[in-house]
Amino acid sequence: MNAVIPIQSAQRSPIANSSQGPQIHQERGQREVFCGLTGIIWLHRKIQDAFFLVVGSRTCAHLIQSAAGVMIFAEPRFGTAIIDDRDLSGIADANEELDKVVNQLLKRRRDIKTLFLVGSCPSEVIKLDLARAALRLNKQFNPNVKVLNYSGSGIETTFTQGEDACLSSIVESLPSAPSSPGTDKGTKKLLIVGTLADVVEDQMMRIFKDMDLQGVEFFPGRNSQKMPIIDASTVYLLAQPFLADTAKRIEDKGATRLSAPFPLGVEGTSAWFAAAASAFKIPSSTLEKALAAPRQRANTAIAKHRALLENKKIFFFPDSQLEIPLARFLSRELGMKLTEVGVPYVHRQHLEQELNLLSADTLIMEGQHVEQQLDRCDQARPDLVVCGLGLANPLEAKGYTTKWSIELVFTPIQGFDQAGDLAELFSRPLVRKEKIAA
Ligand code: SF4
Repeated sequence: MNAVIPIQSAQRSPIANSSQGPQIHQERGQREVFCGLTGIIWLHRKIQDAFFLVVGSRTCAHLIQSAAGVMIFAEPRFGTAIIDDRDLSGIADANEELDKVVNQLLKRRRDIKTLFLVGSCPSEVIKLDLARAALRLNKQFNPNVKVLNYSGSGIETTFTQGEDACLSSIVESLPSAPSSPGTDKGTKKLLIVGTLADVVEDQMMRIFKDMDLQGVEFFPGRNSQKMPIIDASTVYLLAQPFLADTAKRIEDKGATRLSAPFPLGVEGTSAWFAAAASAFKIPSSTLEKALAAPRQRANTAIAKHRALLENKKIFFFPDSQLEIPLARFLSRELGMKLTEVGVPYVHRQHLEQELNLLSADTLIMEGQHVEQQLDRCDQARPDLVVCGLGLANPLEAKGYTTKWSIELVFTPIQGFDQAGDLAELFSRPLVRKEKIAA
């Protein structure tokens, strides 16, 4: 469901940006965003021995099932423990009910090694303490099953924060180790942080091997029982720009972040690998040799989309937190004109290099006042609007061509071999519109 959150005082103010990039403006008002439960869709595909149990209402269940497009004969790795009228009115003990559901589930599904209790708006409204529930259930099921909890609630969050909350809960549960083996480049070890499709992870791993960088780990991994050891010898690269809490927890364990643009498009992916090469003192000739062929393939793949997208105006409504890296890719590699780049939150440190690559006159708007933003969209008359599902249909009805921002998180878009697919996600709606008009 779309959480529409009115904030009474609407305001818009420019914020001085410490970097050399564009100024960041802020506005507050009514927002149109999806909730963090959506993250379960890509997280359950990645962590293949985990189960996500949403503790929520029928609305939450419908959201997850329709977003995931579940086949009825499939055995899914997510479900909803429905909070019903008896729980809401206090007739039933919600904790007892939850324990009953978890017992039934874990008895039937021996393949589950990690169980996430995922909070929702309803569980927060009735103040069901899922952290305590996880502690209680861990006493019963650990070490066979690890029980963790996080919130996917739509109150004051945006949909990619579900992944941040989930990964944060995993990091918190990881044991601290006094020492770890490290890679063969000194004592440091590289960790890639952020959920990536398996195909992307495999491609990146091949490039790291070609760079002569061994022992690289990805977090989260495919197996919840093989999570990385994070300590002071860990240096990490973010693969997603929406992991503020996860990054903080990783750093609390002593790890150091490598500053880099995000691996979207040729430029971002090249700089991302270069940041790893620099930290591990990989010779530039080795880096160049490893990147040359995939970079060439990516350049060829995006060239045909540039012809279509160049000089087209694009407007971003805030939704996925991918907006700034996407705006950089679309403006610098495909020649698109940025009319407005709306972002739910801007993490100044994590996005510093991205901001520096944007033209100083780019309008970046942090937060949302949807009515004012719709007015600005009408004034700008963009060729393409990137927005959430709730805005797409009304905008299409007004004659705009739209791209659902959620598709950019469901689709593998990182790395060289996905650069052409990423460009196509933006050119396809324009091609479709031309075909309909013809
Ligand atoms: Fe709706 Fe909240 Fe449930 Fe999300 S968590 S589906 S916003 S009720």
